[in-house]
Amino acid sequence: MKTLIPAVILVLVSTVTASLTFSQDAGGSVIQWDPFEGSYDSLVLRCSETVYETEDPGWGIVLATVYPDSSGEFPASVQIPGAFIVDPDKCIACGICINQCPTDAITEDIDGKAVIDPDLCIACGICANVCPVDAIFVPSSGLYYGLFGVYEESVEEFIQESVQ
Ligand code: SF4
Ligand code: SF4
Repeated sequence: MKTLIPAVILVLVSTVTASLTFSQDAGGSVIQWDPFEGSYDSLVLRCSETVYETEDPGWGIVLATVYPDSSGEFPASVQIPGAFIVDPDKCIACGICINQCPTDAITEDIDGKAVIDPDLCIACGICANVCPVDAIFVPSSGLYYGLFGVYEESVEEFIQESVQ
């Protein structure tokens, strides 16, 4: 999963009147959003250990990028595989998890930080147990989620956040 965040992103903050909801099904976690206005090129869903506030949305970890269909309509939800993910802000690139993963699901990004392939992860939890800085976790209802609309040239607008 690609989690690097572009170095320069301009954020526009809109008035948030709707919210994301979190649920779980057999395929993993499902994040659903309310209808929104705005003609975006794509949507980016992020999660964070701290609340997304409209005045300072912050960034968090990119969980998914969503594109419109051929008619320009976005889906109303996205499913996140029940796999473990790495917080690149916490990862110190020690490589311990890479050596311990039984399915070789973890590789290094260009900075040596761990990246987990959700298609290979069997959710055994070994990597999370051996990580010395608690950088590996499963997206859950205990986190905060933020939805951003992306315009061309990396201009983003904060759309909705999860309600805990
Ligand atoms: S949870 Fe298990 S399979 Fe998934 S990345 Fe971690 S060690 Fe590998
Ligand atoms: S064990 Fe933790 S700190 Fe080390 S590479 Fe893996 S995620 Fe990063």
